[in-house]
Amino acid sequence: MILETSCSAELYKESIKYFPGGVNSPVRAFKSVEGTPLFIKKGQGCRIWDEDGNEYIDFCCSWGPLVLGHSHPSIVNAINEQLNNGTSFGAPTKLENELAKLILDNNPFIEKIRFVNSGTEATMSAIRLARGYTGKSKIIKFEGCYHGHADHLLVKAGSGLATFGTSSSAGVPESFANETIVLPLNDVDAVTKAFENYQDQIAAIIIEPVPANNGLLLQDESYLKFLRDICSSNKTLLIFDEVISGFRLGFTGVAGMYNIHPDIITYGKIIGGGLPVGAYGASAEIMSNISPDGDVYQAGTLSGNPIAMAAGIAQITELLKDGFYDKLNTNTSGFVNSINDHCKGKRISVKVFSKGSIFWLSFSDKETIKSASEIDPNGAEKYKVLHKTLLEKGIYLAPSAYEVGFVSSAHSQEDLQKASQLICDSLDEICAP
Ligand SMILES: *Cc1c(COP(=O)(O)O)cnc(C)c1O
Repeated sequence: MILETSCSAELYKESIKYFPGGVNSPVRAFKSVEGTPLFIKKGQGCRIWDEDGNEYIDFCCSWGPLVLGHSHPSIVNAINEQLNNGTSFGAPTKLENELAKLILDNNPFIEKIRFVNSGTEATMSAIRLARGYTGKSKIIKFEGCYHGHADHLLVKAGSGLATFGTSSSAGVPESFANETIVLPLNDVDAVTKAFENYQDQIAAIIIEPVPANNGLLLQDESYLKFLRDICSSNKTLLIFDEVISGFRLGFTGVAGMYNIHPDIITYGKIIGGGLPVGAYGASAEIMSNISPDGDVYQAGTLSGNPIAMAAGIAQITELLKDGFYDKLNTNTSGFVNSINDHCKGKRISVKVFSKGSIFWLSFSDKETIKSASEIDPNGAEKYKVLHKTLLEKGIYLAPSAYEVGFVSSAHSQEDLQKASQLICDSLDEICAP
């Protein structure tokens, strides 16, 4: 079946006049699947509809925030209710206290929190805090982790033996990139060497403890514990960037899953119930360095926005209900296992990696993939075909081979069985010998 997408095509023709690439965030442009973006009109539960009226089961879920699916009634009601009282005051509201209390009372790893407007702001501020607190300037990040688009984080591994990075975006001065040491994931020696080479200079290690922005590069628990230990013995702060994994892999994220206590945790995505919210949190002692208590400056006109707080409270409240994550994770395992069993049975070289309700389909038969360099780049060509085939069958996956998928509580077992069947059918077509 060929999709009728003339309305989306028309809107795209117009949007490229207004925005670079026709979009307000690059991956939406469908460049890596060589298509043109679908313009989405509405979402309900696990489904979205585009401007041409095509219906899809959505596994992008706004790139992670929609853990309850689209238009969940508690979130819609909470937003509507708050809307009648105004949209923003630039003064404190009790909603900020409520969301903070919900999070902090149920999280043993952080004592104070600051709300911001995006994941990028959260990680950018967390790094400034780590530098302010330690008085050191270098940071370590890992190839295959994404932490938003702040200057010192748009850095990739340098060539050869150079341990500090080179900028991965035009407009980032090399002098900034030189403050960022980029290392491969899952490599104890590389981290140990960096601490030897830059003794007393490393303010923080920042890591996605479950890296989910370049495939799903699951790290060993022992490796994360090693990072905790080496940070402690060097007076370096460990930052868990849980913008994706926070409230996704259980209420307390990866920190809670492995009981590893990072010094700073960043949140985003789920925390705002589909509205723009990010946050960073730490011990009261570390957070006392943030202005106005301390001299690390960080501010925001719309931070703690009441509508966004109301949506966040509504979503987080649902997540705290008994058995929420068990059910979500069980449903996801069933879905993932059915695809993996099918591929094994038919000797198709595809493996779906997953953790909780995050999954990533890789065109490979490797049993584990733990670093960016282990990903076979040829998979992207096959993913392109899969993506297009699935849109035609009514399944919406993220438009890039390197992006993960998300299952929400709105995906019923029936929806997941249907989706798994269509994915398996497509893989049969694509991978037929
Ligand atoms: C999405 C993401 C960010 C950036 O968040 P934005 O809200 O897009 O700025 C940072 N870190 C991680 C781990 C993310 O997944």
